[in-house]
Amino acid sequence: MDKKMTFCEECREDVTYFTESISMTGILKGEEYRFTGKKAICPECAAEVYVAQIEDENLKAMYDAYRQKNGIISHEKILEIPQKYNIGKRPLSLLLGWGEMTFTRYCDGDMPTKQYSDVLQRIYEEPLFYLSLLEENKGNLKSQIAYEKSKRTTVELLGGQKTAVSKVDEVISYLLFRCEDITPLALQKALYYIQGFYYAFMEIFLFTEDCEAWVHGPVYREIYNRYSSYRFDPIESSDEFDVSVFTDEEKAIIDSVIQNFCCYSGKILERFTHAEMPWIKTRGDLSAEANSNRIISKDVIGEYFTAVKQKYNMLTPNDIENYAQVMFSRSTID
Ligand SMILES: [Zn+2]
Repeated sequence: MDKKMTFCEECREDVTYFTESISMTGILKGEEYRFTGKKAICPECAAEVYVAQIEDENLKAMYDAYRQKNGIISHEKILEIPQKYNIGKRPLSLLLGWGEMTFTRYCDGDMPTKQYSDVLQRIYEEPLFYLSLLEENKGNLKSQIAYEKSKRTTVELLGGQKTAVSKVDEVISYLLFRCEDITPLALQKALYYIQGFYYAFMEIFLFTEDCEAWVHGPVYREIYNRYSSYRFDPIESSDEFDVSVFTDEEKAIIDSVIQNFCCYSGKILERFTHAEMPWIKTRGDLSAEANSNRIISKDVIGEYFTAVKQKYNMLTPNDIENYAQVMFSRSTID
């Protein structure tokens, strides 16, 4: 059957319809969305006729409008991800710690939540981020071959582009831009809290680097080396920063940590971290002055800050304030 044919209820016969673009509105999750849709028209009587395929296209156009307005990754990009990284839909889902069929459903057109969408968006845009997920979660995959295939493709992909500035470097640049007198010690603590609270709110880590449980609290070693010449002095600040590198969520969480933690000295922040489970647990039975390069595992950091978020009923990143105040009042008691 010619796909341009449909039955006209008025004429009571099959007709060759034509289409017109029209502005349409639809309601999704209680909000109205305006989009350009199509309607099929009978050339004999000019009545609108029903064509299943056009209904589907209109529905898709409405969902596209919803995605655009709410910052949800497009369906096209979702479909590109498995090809880009040479990984199956189910393995990708498992890699992300999602239900095995979750990603497949998104490929079939289901709308991801904002949170899942943000992960997919970042995977789509940052091969480095994908590679770090692949390395970290390869244990979730059922086949070693799937891991190796995907890794090879991703490494090739990365070879073809300039190494992107890593997320942690962007966060550091922003901290140096926003905070006038941040010392290397305070910088370390700020990164730690940003990493922890970002996880608590978004359920993924903002950067891949691991920190170690040093005598003076959690330390990102490579970053320590980078700024060690400043010793106890503030690191030179920068005059310019393009905040568009961050998503709204990233910026909200970083800003809240700056406001609620970076107002304290590095020494006070060190006391905060000494009272927190991830550092204590990782140090274990080490004496207070013992050097250590033990990594504070991301699992422990994630678990701790997720529990803090729950305990303090944090709904938005601004609510980090309560935790910072409690930590400060405790740190002054002894
Ligand atoms: Zn007709």
